Formats: sequence, C-alpha cells, structure tokens
Amino acid sequence: MTKPWLSLLLALPTLLAGATASARVNVVATLPDLAALAMEIGGAEVDVTALARPTEDPHYVDPKPSLLLPLAKADLLVLNGLDLEIGWLPPLLVNARNANIQPGGAGYLDASTLVPDKLQVPAGRIDRAQGDIHPGGNPHFTHDPRRAAEIAVGLGERLAAIDPAHAADYKARAQKVAGDLRGIAKAERARFAALPEAKRRVVVYHDSWVYVIDWLGLTQVATVEEKPGIKPSPGHVAQVLKTMRERGARLIIQEEYYPRKTSETLSQLASGELSVMRGGTHLEKGETYAHHARETAEALYKELSK
Ligand SMILES: [Zn+2]
Repeated sequence: MTKPWLSLLLALPTLLAGATASARVNVVATLPDLAALAMEIGGAEVDVTALARPTEDPHYVDPKPSLLLPLAKADLLVLNGLDLEIGWLPPLLVNARNANIQPGGAGYLDASTLVPDKLQVPAGRIDRAQGDIHPGGNPHFTHDPRRAAEIAVGLGERLAAIDPAHAADYKARAQKVAGDLRGIAKAERARFAALPEAKRRVVVYHDSWVYVIDWLGLTQVATVEEKPGIKPSPGHVAQVLKTMRERGARLIIQEEYYPRKTSETLSQLASGELSVMRGGTHLEKGETYAHHARETAEALYKELSK
C-alpha cells in the first residue's frame, strides 16, 4: 500500500505545475504592437491578450463585452495613451471592476509616458470641432521602433515590479528587445538616407506616420484626410493632388483599416502608388514587433527606391 507521504510526494510536481501556471502574470494590451512587446519581454511568465486587432482602427475599437473578461483578471494593462483609446477603453475599464488596472494603479501602464519626445504637441487652445485632436501630441508612436524600444524598457521595469521573482528575466529580455529595435532603426535610417531627397517625399492618408517619417528621414508633403477621422472634401483632395504633382511625391501610405478609394484615385491621377501598410504586429501569424518594424521599412523602401 502506498504511504500517504509518498502519494503527496508523487503529486508534488503536478501541484507545483498548477501553482506556476496560476502565478503567470495576466497582461492586457490595447494594441497588438504593445501586446507583441509584452509577449517577448514577459516570456513564459506572462499571458498576454490584445484588445484591438491589427486590422482595426485603434481610434474606434468595438468595446464588445468579450473584452471585459481579460480586463477583469488582468494584473497589468498596457495602453497607448495620448487619448488614442479614449473612445472605447474608459467604459470597458469601469465595467471590468478591476482595481489593479485603474488609472494611476500599479497595473496601469500608459505607454505614452515612456516615450520622451512626442511629436505634434499642439500649442494653445484645443477645439474638438477640428476632429480627433490629441492635446498631448500625435498618439501613433508604436509604428516607430525607436519609441518602441523605450516602451520595451519601461515594460520590463513594470513587469519586474509586479512579479519580483522574475525581475532579472524581464529586465534582461527588455534590454535585448530594445537593443535589437535600436539596431533595426539605425540600419533602416541609414538605408533611407542614401536615397535622394526627392524620392523621400510621401503623402499619408491619416496623420499616423509622423513618427515613421521622423525615424526614416522622410518628408510628408500632404495628408489626404483634411481633419483626422473625417472624410476629406473634394476641394481638399484636389489640393492634395496639386501638391503631389508640384512636389513630385508619388507614394501615398495608409494603414489597412482606412478606406482606400480616395487614396487609390489620387495615386492614379498622380501616376503614383498606394502602399497599404500593416496596422500593427499580426500576432496570429506569430510575428514579433521587430518583424512588423522591418516590414514597415521594407514596404516603404521598395516603393521609394523605384
Ligand atoms: Zn490618429
């Protein structure tokens, strides 16, 4: 007959495995890019859920009730900030009833606070009638691997604070990710710098490429949207076409989730190209953030170097 202590000893590995699994840190990230960074830095110690899909406009994510479950059990919420999620995240946060992840809490990480140099910070009074104006600056910094490197470091520190037993692992992985991203950013910047200035002029659909333009040393000559989030008027579209012709800008860039018709028409009339870019890291394809950053640069280089 088996002695009681022996059966306990035999059961111990199972008990320990159970304890380890339940001790994993639950991370929820609003955007797939932030989720990708958390997955890489958190490793086997974390479970990560992304609320938005890379094919969804991050300004307008459907706050469906299924998003409440991961939020309710989250130890850490990583959001973009700068009002990007203002239209959909606040009601979810209230309904999730999770004290850990409320603004200012130990499990609330606003990635924009980790990005030191925000672009397009408006001066003076803000008028909401101007469309989606962001008083803290342009919120679309996750397209830029240099800013993502800063977020990676901050994310590593926060995970270390939440789960001190694995602090060294989080910090080491964060430094590795940040180092890799800075390397990619530097190499791509040098590659684009070798192109003549005339080839580095672009038009954007939504004003969400300002950090990429800063990273790769490009020039934004026009924006198809007259006001962010509002369909452009025919008069504005005609003005964009005129600017494209005058400045010799051939390439229009936009994320996969924006309407394409106006950009397609403009690129045809200007004898140019439309590049429909990934909206973020495609986690379902097993991509890392670095993959997304390289892909962004590669897609732009392919068109601009023609
Ligand atoms: Zn925007």
